[in-house]
Amino acid sequence: MNQFPAISELDDHIINLKKKTINIATLASEMDNRVGLYILALHLSKEHSLTIGKFGRFQFPPGYYQYIGSAGKGIRFRVIRHLERRSVRHWHLDYLMPFVSVFSIRVFYEPPFTECSLAAQTEIADSGIRFPPRFGASDCRCSGHLIRHDSPPVWDKHP
Ligand SMILES: [Zn+2]
Repeated sequence: MNQFPAISELDDHIINLKKKTINIATLASEMDNRVGLYILALHLSKEHSLTIGKFGRFQFPPGYYQYIGSAGKGIRFRVIRHLERRSVRHWHLDYLMPFVSVFSIRVFYEPPFTECSLAAQTEIADSGIRFPPRFGASDCRCSGHLIRHDSPPVWDKHP
């Protein structure tokens, strides 16, 4: 298993969206389109029972969620795709996006680790739980790429 670098040592970029209306064009100018990983910090203000395509129906408690994704065709392209909340649904996250607000985005350009190891690290860093189990993990064998926790993520510098 690869050694995971300390979060503070990572080549990353945090985009804080709080107190801003998300403007897709502005957001696009803050990201380049290299491949890499991203974390969307999400807030769900009240409980929702949601059907996630064929994956199943789940009761999502209110709180904070982090979604860890991998963008093989470029981070800017993928993150904007999520934020546009298109009606055509492809990823598990697409079913959740209409119900959450995105308050921060963290991007990792060409990192030396996988989305699965980043999800594992994020779970530990924020004392979170994978919920629903295996969410977003259709193409891998890990416990899932959505992590729920009670407080904003530790990397979010502007709570
Ligand atoms: Zn995984």
